[in-house]
Amino acid sequence: MNHTASQQLFQRAQKSIPGGVNSPVRAFKAVGGTPVFMKSAKGPYLFDEDGNQYIDFINSWGPMILGHACDMVQDAIKEVLPDSFSYGAPTEREIEMAELIIRMVPSIEKVRMVNSGTEATMSAIRVARGYTGRDKIIKFEGCYHGHGDSFLIAAGSGAVTLGVPDSPGVTKGTANDTITVPYNNLDAVKQAVAVNENQVAALILEPVVGNMGLVPPADGFLAGLRELCTSAGIVLIFDEVMTGFRLARGGAQELYGITPDMTTLGKIIGGGLPVGAYGGKKEIMDSVAPAGPVYQAGTLSGNPIAMAAGLSMLKFLQGHDEVYAYLNNISDKLVHGMRDNLRSVGMEYTINHVGSMFSLFFTRKPVTDFESAKKSNLELFSKYFNGMLQRGIYLAPSQFETLFISTAITDDLADQYLEANLATLKDLRQYL
Ligand SMILES: *Cc1c(COP(=O)(O)O)cnc(C)c1O
Repeated sequence: MNHTASQQLFQRAQKSIPGGVNSPVRAFKAVGGTPVFMKSAKGPYLFDEDGNQYIDFINSWGPMILGHACDMVQDAIKEVLPDSFSYGAPTEREIEMAELIIRMVPSIEKVRMVNSGTEATMSAIRVARGYTGRDKIIKFEGCYHGHGDSFLIAAGSGAVTLGVPDSPGVTKGTANDTITVPYNNLDAVKQAVAVNENQVAALILEPVVGNMGLVPPADGFLAGLRELCTSAGIVLIFDEVMTGFRLARGGAQELYGITPDMTTLGKIIGGGLPVGAYGGKKEIMDSVAPAGPVYQAGTLSGNPIAMAAGLSMLKFLQGHDEVYAYLNNISDKLVHGMRDNLRSVGMEYTINHVGSMFSLFFTRKPVTDFESAKKSNLELFSKYFNGMLQRGIYLAPSQFETLFISTAITDDLADQYLEANLATLKDLRQYL
């Protein structure tokens, strides 16, 4: 596979863009080589600047749950384009969007639209702080909640991939207000809450973690957090930027039957356009300006084009529960096939899987938190990634990311993936 055009573009990009990319996870730093520059995509396929074709298993890190450039979302965008691209004034579509989100995610009684997942999480903790009058937040090691200052402490995703889980530029004061604990460790959370009695405003987590690779919550973990937060007066925030509208129509909270106080959303909610949202109990959300004193604003928030794209996506998901059954089935097939492949080549590695998200970790031990995820053999992952890429399979370029399956993955494409997986694993045996 030839990547000359991508290599040339990457050379050029590095002169005008830090590291040549507008988001660090796009760099191939952890896996070697240069990022692939994309030209177009349709359904399950990505096409790069060299004319190579790939089957996509990232789907823009989640949003493209129906595959790329889906006709329905395209039509929705085309329909509203002639009406102007932004008003800086309210529109009916924003109410429709809010009402639909509230119907799909019942723990949300009121919701505010923003422009990214980062904005959603930053705003949610500000609101939780304003509402409780407390300063500290608890987050989990290896969870990623966007690039807000408070969250870049033991952060996952690109932050850990690039070796900066605690970013320079975050002040000591901010860092001191963020308490980090290991995921799936309820006792550690209880202890942190006890030590910081009446000081913790919010506990934020990915109810299913995607940003240290996929890590599901242990039995009783989410229920334990719910109970603890209720008794300590802490706002429980589920960051469902990744899992919202993906693991079920109502996200991980529907799947696991746990009701958070606040929820942050992103990715799928914009149908591929830049949208985020945060919402929750009426009482908490009524502290947001102009209803209440906690300030949060956005010139382009509720943008008409983005709302049209997101609404068409959410309406479809709301009306088609079979999407989730399909995604679960095709993902089961992929995961079972990978397990068979691993067995047949005599390799024992860990696969974590929930719904249409899964990760293959190059470690034999179970992966239940950040520490165990970090035990993975990153060199082997890098060889695996490049082997798959050469075979036309586009994976996340880091061990510390999940894959996202779209409905465009047919049975045949799943077979193609599994063939590439088997061939790549066979090649890897020489490095064991
Ligand atoms: C992607 C992500 C974010 C950040 O969203 P952006 O739109 O990239 O700012 C926050 N939380 C989680 C769980 C995410 O996966």
